[in-house]
Amino acid sequence: MGITKTKGIVINHANSKDADKILTVLTPDLGKISVLVKGVKNKNGNNMSITELFVFLDLVLYKNTGDVYLLNSAEIIEPFYNIRVDIEKICFLTYISKLISDISTENQNSFELMQLLLNTIYLYSQNTKDNMFLVTVFQIRLLRILGFNPIIDKCFYCKTKDVSSFSIKENALICENCAKNDTGSIYLSKSAINALKYILVSDSKKVFSFDISEKSFAELKLFIKIYLCEKLDKQYDIDKFIAKYII
Ligand SMILES: [Zn+2]
Repeated sequence: MGITKTKGIVINHANSKDADKILTVLTPDLGKISVLVKGVKNKNGNNMSITELFVFLDLVLYKNTGDVYLLNSAEIIEPFYNIRVDIEKICFLTYISKLISDISTENQNSFELMQLLLNTIYLYSQNTKDNMFLVTVFQIRLLRILGFNPIIDKCFYCKTKDVSSFSIKENALICENCAKNDTGSIYLSKSAINALKYILVSDSKKVFSFDISEKSFAELKLFIKIYLCEKLDKQYDIDKFIAKYII
């Protein structure tokens, strides 16, 4: 209770009564928290920009009783201006925020998730990587953070290293032979498997730093789409989500 200092990224915002706003903020140490910002739209209020989505903030918060933190003061560390003028990028990041908001809770150590989100937003703001590439890599890396930890070093059934499919049922790579008896397994080429392994085990700063052919990328994208729909929910189908916003 009392004053708390932390850093955070705004992943949702909603109007509250009068001129107040409630922000959903992802922080490394407190997990996902709700922050009440008083008097945002007051004539003298100067807090407007800190309530924008995806802004990275230095925060001083106050908590008395209840679940909501009260904003004492905030400074913008990084506003990520570039993404705000691009409707497609905002759409992809809205998907990512929704996913994070749904899976994270308060009082959960979110250091790795926060680092992944920051890297992802930064790369969206840089225009150097394809939008769908970024969200796909984000989704796959998220499996590790969520603790799904797929088996990727050998076939789940016969232990051979020569794997070529992914078994959703067993959460593991499997070989061509064993895939015949695993209905619903997803074929992955050698380069798609290498990319999958890279995303799951690489250093967090390098997770987006690899090249992949269009064909192998399409396999990876299909894999993670089926995976998230099966393990989490059908609403995390990226194509359907994006189609609602972009015509
Ligand atoms: Zn096998």
